[in-house]
Amino acid sequence: MKIITSIFDLNKEIKNYKNIGFVPTMGGIHEGHKSLIKASQNKKRKTIVSIFVNPTQFNKKDDFKKYPRNIQKDIDILEKLNVEYLFAPSVKDIYKFKAKKFNLKKKDKILCAKFRIGHFEGVLNVMNRLMTIIKSKDLYMGEKDYQQLYLIKKFLSKKFKVRINSCPTIRIDNKIALSTRNKLLKKRSLKKASEIALFLKKIKYKSKFQGSKLAFILSEYKKELEKKYNIKIDYLEFRDEKNLKLNNFKNKYRLFVAYKIDNVRLIDNY
Ligand code: AMP
Repeated sequence: MKIITSIFDLNKEIKNYKNIGFVPTMGGIHEGHKSLIKASQNKKRKTIVSIFVNPTQFNKKDDFKKYPRNIQKDIDILEKLNVEYLFAPSVKDIYKFKAKKFNLKKKDKILCAKFRIGHFEGVLNVMNRLMTIIKSKDLYMGEKDYQQLYLIKKFLSKKFKVRINSCPTIRIDNKIALSTRNKLLKKRSLKKASEIALFLKKIKYKSKFQGSKLAFILSEYKKELEKKYNIKIDYLEFRDEKNLKLNNFKNKYRLFVAYKIDNVRLIDNY
């Protein structure tokens, strides 16, 4: 695997490869990331993985500081997976050139955008930069971060004429979604989070039969979970898959959740 740490070297290295699959990450490589890499490799693409903990998408400094990082371990995993390129640039390099800024409209300020002010503007900013540099026509992203996927499709897919391949969420024992942030959880909280995932999966399943009746009592479930597990839930909402509008049980939908446990914020959708 070639490890590239500057835009200058990247331009030298990959300018001749059109057929390249791009997997952007913030590191702490786990099975979720691996599934994206494998999706790219299954299409017989050379694959470039980026590891960049992007400061502009963290609305809290402390969250940025404590985000788990272990580049050597990541390198070992990526080598075993036969990834061709790792792009691990510095903050200075990524932010040294001028680029368009993105502002969310009022109707997009829902779910995480409502609770993490400036987060998605930071995500769009860095993805715009990374895609300008890497110029891949194939991007691989996870449904675990569904709103991120939605906004990148909305704001960037046309500009870059890029195919956005969305990959299903990988879970531990069909319960909690893999996430780099799980590393910050105490063992007991990880267990709690798995129970919460199971509970929410059941609610989603029930909603298929009970529809709006269940949506009506969702706030009761929210209170119950908060009390039982001593967590703070930012949102628990059924929304349409296609446009993230509040759901009326006519279109395909998902149950979206974000909550804090051990002062770690987890998100998921079912
Ligand atoms: P991150 O490193 O958390 O920024 O994630 C990088 C990419 O991996 C994003 O496209 C995520 O949606 C995706 N991803 C993270 N966790 C999972 C998971 N459990 N299953 C599938 N994809 C994931």
